[in-house]
Amino acid sequence: DRPQSNYFGAGPAQLPLSVLQQAAKDLINFQDEGLGIGEISHRSKPAGKVITDTKAHLKELFAIPDTHEVFFLQGGGTTGFSSIASNLSAAHFGKTGEVGTAAYLVTGSWSEKSAQESERLGVPTEIICNSKKESGKYDSIPETKTWAGKLDAKKHSYVYFCENETVHGVEWPAQLPQELIDSKVPIVADLSSDILSRKINVSDYSLIMAGAQKNIGLAGLTLYIIKKELLDNIAKVSPKQLRDASLPVSPIATEYPTVVKNDSAYNTIPIFTLHVIDLVLKRLLERGGIEHQQEENEEKAKILYDALDKFPDFYNLPVNKKFRSKMNVVFTLKKEGLDAKFLEEASSLNLTGLKGHRSVGGFRASLYNAVELSSVKLLADFVTKFAENN
Ligand code: PMP
Repeated sequence: DRPQSNYFGAGPAQLPLSVLQQAAKDLINFQDEGLGIGEISHRSKPAGKVITDTKAHLKELFAIPDTHEVFFLQGGGTTGFSSIASNLSAAHFGKTGEVGTAAYLVTGSWSEKSAQESERLGVPTEIICNSKKESGKYDSIPETKTWAGKLDAKKHSYVYFCENETVHGVEWPAQLPQELIDSKVPIVADLSSDILSRKINVSDYSLIMAGAQKNIGLAGLTLYIIKKELLDNIAKVSPKQLRDASLPVSPIATEYPTVVKNDSAYNTIPIFTLHVIDLVLKRLLERGGIEHQQEENEEKAKILYDALDKFPDFYNLPVNKKFRSKMNVVFTLKKEGLDAKFLEEASSLNLTGLKGHRSVGGFRASLYNAVELSSVKLLADFVTKFAENN
């Protein structure tokens, strides 16, 4: 057991105590077999069941259609966006026999890094929009009509964006712009920091990727939901054909068709880490699914944004209201010299993990699924009193 923590760290993040308690038991003695879940073979029957169950729970929670496949890979979001660039350039080549261009919508540091990685791997890369170029900072999502017309299904192998920019606190709307869907360019999204925080229409996406360590589990695993058609196209191309076309060849452990063919256990999948994800999913299902979680997340975000918005002369909220993240609330103090005092006083009330990312400074309160409503109310009271007293 442990005392209640009000931890707002951006990731790795807090997990539900009941999940940790069950995981701790299972780490020592899984299903009374006398061995822990981290000690059994990833090809054993119980491990296979963890993989099957986790996939089934995810399909149920996220309403994943049969056109899509779920799989898991070692690694995190970075493994995710690197592997996307290499696998998906192959998919386009497999489908058209032509070298396509990867399209990136850049709205913060994570989509920026993903585009840079695509370029670094030697995939022809085009930045379709960049919100920083427009306003000087990552504080918004450019209007669809300014960029959607540039997308071309014949030329672009995929269009990539980061659904929730963890550092800058910018989040795309759950309903994707219709022009983006109508472009017919395969839609690919990084959901590392808002996966399962709200309902989305999975069939609009050709690929969803999410690192586990914020909303669904521990660091070490990344989850993928891929359209089967895309997977088939990757499998059509040989490494030699890719080399001849000057396209990158995916390392075998991150080559999607190989991983899927082996039910996510081509190499050693960390089964304990996956089991923790499954415990999180089961708890979500028991508590009323994603609808319930979404309602709670909306309430948490509203409470905190309302508290900060009451003091416009004191708190600066840089993100355009329409695109404010419900997961990462980013703010700064307008008065100089108070930052350390803010963090110290918060910490004395057991409100921790509030320091902003080193690249933007200020503060960031991450309100992932496991952060309790009661913790957010305490934080809202604190920001109110701090503004009044200073
Ligand atoms: N994408 C997003 C949206 C993230 O927030 C992060 C990590 N904070 C990453 C990718 C990179 O994840 P990792 O550190 O697991 O590689």
